[in-house]
Amino acid sequence: MRALVTGGAGFIGSHLIDRLVARGDKVSVVDNLSSGVIEFIQGHIDSGAVTFHNADLKDLNGLIPLMDGIDMVYHLAANPDIRLGTKITDTDLNEGTIATYNVLEAMRLAGVGKIAFASSSVVYGEGAPMPTPEDHGPCLPISLYGASKQAGEGLIGSWVGTFGLQAWIFRFANIIGERGTHGVIFDFIHKLKADPSRLEVLGNGLQEKSYMEVGDCVDAILHVIQNTDDNINLYNLGSNDTCSVRNIAAIVIKETGCDGASIEYTGGDRGWAGDIPKAMLAINRLKKLGFKVNYDSEEAVAYTTRVLIKEIMG
Ligand code: NAD
Repeated sequence: MRALVTGGAGFIGSHLIDRLVARGDKVSVVDNLSSGVIEFIQGHIDSGAVTFHNADLKDLNGLIPLMDGIDMVYHLAANPDIRLGTKITDTDLNEGTIATYNVLEAMRLAGVGKIAFASSSVVYGEGAPMPTPEDHGPCLPISLYGASKQAGEGLIGSWVGTFGLQAWIFRFANIIGERGTHGVIFDFIHKLKADPSRLEVLGNGLQEKSYMEVGDCVDAILHVIQNTDDNINLYNLGSNDTCSVRNIAAIVIKETGCDGASIEYTGGDRGWAGDIPKAMLAINRLKKLGFKVNYDSEEAVAYTTRVLIKEIMG
């Protein structure tokens, strides 16, 4: 199998590549290293298992030849910073919607037939029933990032219906773990590293979401692809429960040993405009395929805190 991973130098992409290489796939990576870290996949590049292309998905013409001979595209590249949309309004349009169009168009022109897409729980918008099943609708995202994910799903659906593409769409919960380069745990550790006496928490800390360990996430992606064969296969990927931001703050303070740190809440029910304060995905479809999630949310948070402390604090 020849796979192309967009965003393969990123947090989730690099873990996916570990699995693909381990099972013997030949892997090409397209990444512009805007938030990716080449060291995450350098070992695979050095061993010859991965071919790396430092390229930008916004360049359609540059992308077409990279699709030559590819069986399956894993499209993970995107702007990872949801908050950015509160200040810059065209990032998600360009790095999400347009980039996804370019991936699909390059696939069509090169005759590549299968795509897996990293979408997000935020497509469900606010006020969805919890846990949220895949068939909940209408989906009305409230962030620009969420809009770009929904647009990506729509474009993929249209390529399936019009050009016979086969697709797997994964709506991720919050994915955390080793090599994490963003998100609440990463932020808290950096804040405590800079000032061990206080921890600023965005919102009132009562935000509550599902967290999935990244190894569980990439195993689930491959399990679903192996066990499904519809034209469009849509799956929520998450864990069985939620963890509050207050709880995360307590875990990070304990694990960093900053026991005397005061917690300062910025207030309000959410971290930023466009944030969804409470989210939990229904994962019945995933379970029905025989997949078992290893970590619950709190275990994933505690494990991630320990590994990121080592990575960030040394
Ligand atoms: P990440 O930032 O680590 O990975 C994204 C990668 O894409 C980076 O390596 C970056 O350099 C690359 N990239 C961005 N724009 C590009 C462009 N125009 N051309 C080429 N490369 C580009 O983020 P991640 O957490 O690994 O997320 C992977 C995917 O999963 C993203 O699509 C993200 O939206 C989605 N997702 C992540 C989470 C999460 O909790 N981490 C949750 C829901 C969805």
